Amino acid sequence: MENRIAVYPGNFDPVTNGHIDIIERAARIFPKVVVAVAASREKRSLLFSLEERVSFLKDLYQEHTCVEITSFNGLLIDFMKQHNAQVIIRGLRAVSDFEMEFQFALMNQQLAGDIETLFMMSRSTYSYLSSSAVKQVIRFKGNVSNLVPACVENALWAKFHG
Ligand code: ADP
Repeated sequence: MENRIAVYPGNFDPVTNGHIDIIERAARIFPKVVVAVAASREKRSLLFSLEERVSFLKDLYQEHTCVEITSFNGLLIDFMKQHNAQVIIRGLRAVSDFEMEFQFALMNQQLAGDIETLFMMSRSTYSYLSSSAVKQVIRFKGNVSNLVPACVENALWAKFHG
């Protein structure tokens, strides 16, 4: 694993403690984890801009040399090749994640057979946690302080109730 670079792609709209748990566990396995925030707006309902989604992650990882935060546009496997990365990390929460993840993994395998997708099971504490659930809760002024970092919680409050 010495020179293996892992890429953890996603929308991170916004980053939650579930994502953070995956980043930290991946960073124990790989010497370098690149968190790649998707620039494309094909998911209609993104709440935060690309700059905002990247900046939450950069705030959290500014002192971690083995975690790099960046964004990507276009095909993930092209980004992987540009970064000389071999492994895609994805988190799996429940059966509901499986079908879509399975499809992406097989499509990427078809496009680039030398790139592997590695799935990490969600920690049980976070298996119900998603960015969209957090947005629903904050919309109705629920407490999300155990679910997202403080910078994200503040930004969510400002966005919905600012
Ligand atoms: P995407 O829209 O690409 O799925 P997300 O930002 O929602 O982007 O998620 C990025 C990755 O993180 C996905 O693999 C997703 O399954 C995983 N993930 C999201 N929330 C959790 C969680 N609570 N625990 C573990 N993995 C998670």
